[in-house]
Amino acid sequence: MNQPDNKGYYGIFGGAYIPEILHASVERLKAAFYEAKADPAFKAEYYNLLKHYAGRPSPLYFAKRLSATYGTNIYLKREDLNHTGSHKINNALGQILLAKRMGKTRIIAETGAGQHGVATATVCALMGMECIVFMGKTDVERQFLNVQKMKMLGAKVEPVTSGNMTLKDATNEAIRYWCSNPDSFYIIGSTVGPHPYPDMVAYFQSVISEEIKFQLQEQIDRGYPDYLIACVGGGSNAMGTYYHYLNDERVKIISAEAGGLGIDSGETAATIHVGTIGIIHGFKTLLMQDKDGQIIEPYSISAGLDYPGVGPAHAHFAQAGRTKMYAINDDEALEAAFELTKLEGIIPAIESAHALAVLKKEQPNFKPDDVVVLTVSGRGDKDIDTYIKRITSINSPGF
Ligand SMILES: *Cc1c(COP(=O)(O)O)cnc(C)c1O
Repeated sequence: MNQPDNKGYYGIFGGAYIPEILHASVERLKAAFYEAKADPAFKAEYYNLLKHYAGRPSPLYFAKRLSATYGTNIYLKREDLNHTGSHKINNALGQILLAKRMGKTRIIAETGAGQHGVATATVCALMGMECIVFMGKTDVERQFLNVQKMKMLGAKVEPVTSGNMTLKDATNEAIRYWCSNPDSFYIIGSTVGPHPYPDMVAYFQSVISEEIKFQLQEQIDRGYPDYLIACVGGGSNAMGTYYHYLNDERVKIISAEAGGLGIDSGETAATIHVGTIGIIHGFKTLLMQDKDGQIIEPYSISAGLDYPGVGPAHAHFAQAGRTKMYAINDDEALEAAFELTKLEGIIPAIESAHALAVLKKEQPNFKPDDVVVLTVSGRGDKDIDTYIKRITSINSPGF
C-alpha cells in the first residue's frame, strides 16, 4: 500500500508529466534509485550517515503532561532533534548519496521557507558538491536567516522573480533549469514531483516509522500505535510516519493540512479540502486552482505547509478513506504550539503545531489506554518571530 504502481500512481494520483527533454534523465534516476534501494551497501552508507551525522534514531518521547491533558498516552516522534532541525535532512542525505552514486556533481533544489534549501546546502557541503537553490524573491526577503545559512554553507541562492515569487515559482524555475541542464541532480524536498520522486522521498523518510516500530516495541512491548498523527505540506514527514503502518488496519491515521484563516475564507492551503484534480510540477494531484486551471496562491501562517498541491499518496489515501484529514487554522496551530511549550518544554515548528492541534479535535475519541504517536516534524527556532507576534498581540497569561 505504501508503493505506487510501476507508472508512479497511487490510485488516480501521481504519474510523471514531464517534458520530453527530461524523459531520459528521469528514466536514469528511476533506474538508479531502485537499484540503490536494493543494494545493501547503499543502505549501510545511508544509515551510517543518519546515525552519525543526522543524530538518528530520533527519540520517541512519552509526553506525560500532554497525555494527562488529553486523557490518553501520547508519544512524540522528535524529528525536531535532527541535525538542521527537521526531518528534511533524512531525505537530503538519501538523495545526495544517490547523486554521488550516479556520478553527479551539481545539485539543484527549490525551497520555500528555506528549510529544504538549508538541508540541501548542508549535504552538498558534506559531499563537496556544487549547490544551486531556487527561491522566490518574496521568500528570500522573508527568510533572511536561512538565506544566510545557505550562503555560508556554500550554496548559490537564485532569487526567482516570476509569478508571486514564492515556492510554486521557485519549483517552476528549478524544473526549467533542470530542462536546460539535465545532467544536474534535482533534490526535491517533499513527496511531490514526477515519479519516482514521491516514492523515493517516502522511502528516505520511512526511517521514521521503522524507528517508531522498534521504539514502541521497546517501550510498551507492542510495535504499533492506535493513532498516528502528522502534518502534511507536500507530505514527506507524514509519509515517513505512516509508511510501515499503511497496511495495518489497527492503526488509525490522521493528518493535518493548513486551514489558514479557514477553508472557506479564500486564505487557505487546505488542498485536500478545497482542491480539484489537476497537474502541477510533473504529477497529478488535488490542486488549488481556478476554473481556468490557474493556480490559486495558497496561504498559511506556516511557510512549510504553504503549497498549492499535495503529495499524490496523501490525495489517494484521503479519498480512499485510509487517512482522515483535518484542516487546522492558524489560530488553532498557534494555540497548540504554546500548549506544547508550556506542558513539555518543547517549542515546535509552526508546521508541527498543526499536527498537535489534532489532539483537541480527536480528544472525544481517545481512550485512556490508547497509544497515540505524533510526529514533531521540526523545531520552532525559525518561527520565533511568529510566536513573538502572538505573545504581544494576545498578551497571553504567563508572559
Ligand atoms: C518542510 C516542513 C514540513 C512540510 O513538509 P512535508 O513534506 O509535508 O513534511 C513540515 N514540518 C517542517 C518542520 C518542515 O520544515
